[in-house]
Amino acid sequence: MADDKLSTAESLRSTRSYGQVRCMNPSCAGRITPAPGQTQAKCPKCGSEWRIFWINAGLPRVKGPVWETSQRLANERLDQIAAEAGKNEELAKKEVK
Ligand SMILES: [Zn+2]
Repeated sequence: MADDKLSTAESLRSTRSYGQVRCMNPSCAGRITPAPGQTQAKCPKCGSEWRIFWINAGLPRVKGPVWETSQRLANERLDQIAAEAGKNEELAKKEVK
C-alpha cells in the first residue's frame, strides 16, 4: 500500500514539468524555466516578466507580474496607438489645408 503510493507519487513527479511555470499571460501560456533561486523570470514567448517564488528548491510558482515590465509593455502599446493617432491627425490637417 505504502509502496503503491510512493510509486504513484514518483510517476507523477516524472511526468510533471518539474521546475517550470506557465506564463500567466492568457494569450500566451508559454513555459518558463526559471533558474534555481531566480525571483524574476521572463517568458521567452511573449516577453512578459513574472515574479517567482519557490515552494521548494525545485518547485517554482508565479507570484505575479513584474509591474514595471507590464507597465512598460502597456506604455509602449499606448505610445504606438498615440503615434498612430497623431499620424492620422496630421494627415487630416493636411487634407483640410
Ligand atoms: Zn508568455
